Amino acid sequence: MSTFPKVVAFDEVGVVGLIQLDNPPVNALSREVRAGIIDAITVAANRPRIKALLIISNGNLFSAGADLKEFDTGFLEPSLQKVQAAIEGSRLPVVAAIHGLALGGGLELAMTCHYRIARRDAKLGLPEINLGIVPGAGGTQRLPRLIGACAALEMILSGAPIPAAEAKAKGLVDEVVEGDLREHALAFCERLVRDGTGPRPTRSLPAANGLSESDITEALQANAKSLKGRTTQALVIEAIQASKLPFAEGISVEEAVSQKSLASRESEALRHVFFAERESGKVTGLPDRLELPEIKQAAIIGAGTMGSAIAIAFADAGRKVTLIDNAESALARSHENIRSTYASSIKRGRITQEIADERIARITHGREFAAAAHADIVIEAVFEDVDLKKRVLSSLDSIIPPERLIATNTSTLSVTELGAATKHPGRVLGLHFFAPANVTKLLEIVRGRETAVEGLATALQVAKLLKKVPVVAGDAFGFIGNRMMLDGYFREAEQLLLEGASPTQVDAALEQFGFAMGPQRVSDLGGNDVGTKARLQLYKRESRPDPYFVIADRLTELGRLGQKTGRGFYRYENGSREALPDLDVTALIETLASQQGIARREIKDDEIVERCLLALINVGAIVLEERIAARASDIDVVWTSGYGFPRHLGGPMFYADTLGMQHVAQRIRYYHEKLGHYWRPAAMIERLAKEKSTFEQWDRALQTR
Ligand code: NAD
Repeated sequence: MSTFPKVVAFDEVGVVGLIQLDNPPVNALSREVRAGIIDAITVAANRPRIKALLIISNGNLFSAGADLKEFDTGFLEPSLQKVQAAIEGSRLPVVAAIHGLALGGGLELAMTCHYRIARRDAKLGLPEINLGIVPGAGGTQRLPRLIGACAALEMILSGAPIPAAEAKAKGLVDEVVEGDLREHALAFCERLVRDGTGPRPTRSLPAANGLSESDITEALQANAKSLKGRTTQALVIEAIQASKLPFAEGISVEEAVSQKSLASRESEALRHVFFAERESGKVTGLPDRLELPEIKQAAIIGAGTMGSAIAIAFADAGRKVTLIDNAESALARSHENIRSTYASSIKRGRITQEIADERIARITHGREFAAAAHADIVIEAVFEDVDLKKRVLSSLDSIIPPERLIATNTSTLSVTELGAATKHPGRVLGLHFFAPANVTKLLEIVRGRETAVEGLATALQVAKLLKKVPVVAGDAFGFIGNRMMLDGYFREAEQLLLEGASPTQVDAALEQFGFAMGPQRVSDLGGNDVGTKARLQLYKRESRPDPYFVIADRLTELGRLGQKTGRGFYRYENGSREALPDLDVTALIETLASQQGIARREIKDDEIVERCLLALINVGAIVLEERIAARASDIDVVWTSGYGFPRHLGGPMFYADTLGMQHVAQRIRYYHEKLGHYWRPAAMIERLAKEKSTFEQWDRALQTR
């Protein structure tokens, strides 16, 4: 009978002591796992028949690393370092057998073992940089000793795991095998014993050479996009440079640097987003056990830009999908677009021709709604026109069995109103995808007043199937993201243009802050007419104080729709995407400003960033007050996964917390006085400021309510 905790089993198999990790779902290196490995090594040391040790895991992967919660709560004893000391102190050779994934602490554990054998499907990586953390269990010291400092830098900065074959070529694993990993690994251990090959601690391998200036420049350049505005990379470089020192000295540099990274605002923000994304799919009030339909096939009505991209998302997830459109020309265009999307994925080396063919074969096109009758879910993506959508939903309602979900991809209309056009409003909800829908991670799930919990649960299941990050939103104009964009962020950007800033200045300032693309470039990309149409829908239900998008709407009137017409806030030459300043736009803005009685002046970049961000935060707080978003962290997920807000700043609400609520409230009051009504401070911000509280605390209090 084993006395070890269930998460680690120990067996003797011939001359091999077999240490088996079994901590579902990802074999996280929890305290119990760590203690279990140390116990196993201790017991093995006293069993004379055992001549080698093998660490192997049950389940789908070797280990995904530390339990992330421990980064916040602090690591309990025994630490991973103690496990590593036990391995390195063992007089028996210790082998790691890797399948699936070895990530973070999981790879650091494997690198401490004396030998590594991997199954061909395995991937190995140190993804800590994605959380703003420098690996802290010897990763920055052992990896350079195994594969060289330059390759280690590339691996740690990219955070991307490498396949087993590449790991073998680089020297990270000793052998790659096919088939039964356990059998191969046992044979590997027996061979070590037979040949009298003893332990080979990685720490005793010759120190690495260190990094040259060009190694550093190249690695930084290769990861420039993901590291924009970040600071962790400097700490990673410092730690890797220390790998040329004696091991113990290198490790103490790593420890200091890793601690510094953990304490950084950047890491705090990235971990916030990581947990927020896991939280956003949880909806209070959903029964635990619901009989949900399996989504085997989907139907999409409207084979335009969105419909076609949503179809690709289903096909990528291995599901059959029928695209239905009443215009033959739209069907032909959709067919062409889908082919060219896959052709470009092949060209970029993302998928093979064979995989693309399989996926394309899953998508069929048709003209009749009847073709949707057997689908497990139907998504409507026709023109943004309320009467048309009502007609479409009502027709679908009569041919789709009532227990199946009917979703609308509307970005501005009331889901409740659309649902009311059917006899079964409970099965209608919004699935708000973001362009390009096969790529963008965010999926806003819009809950109409009548939407039933089964529908909501099915929608969450669809998000999981399509590998999207779901956020549930209430049914009000613009839901979460577009409301904050229109009433807050973009509106303020326009106001700044009227007051004297240029589109180039506004975009550059916000891109410098960290947004993937500034607001005017985004408008030109999506089409100024899209925003204008959305606002026309808005005015049918609500009004907004002037000036509200007077520039963008005028550009639409002039046919300056953006990139698609070669002119918008900018001009674009010969189909190029390069945004060039346009004097005609400057003149137009000057005229509109004088019509609004606004005196233009020089505006500093700091003011642009402050106003756009505060406006975003203020409307975010109103969205929370109105219960359109359930949590502040949901808003952060919307903005980081759908609107290009820099992840390393945590999303607008987290960013507000870092500014301090009293400062936020005071500055919003200042702009309220200066600019008038639309800057009215959200009551929630005033309250949190008075209580010296934060959005994070507000979220936390919700959980206990
Ligand atoms: P689109 O104009 O590219 O496509 C709409 C398609 O619907 C056309 O092919 C049209 O032929 C088809 N259609 C119209 N009436 C139909 C009917 N009665 N039966 C069958 N097909 C019909 O539009 P889009 O950009 O794909 O937008 C579709 C929906 O997605 C809209 O509600 C829009 O607000 C929403 N949306 C768009 C975006 C975006 O960035 N484009 C983002 C999020 C949501």
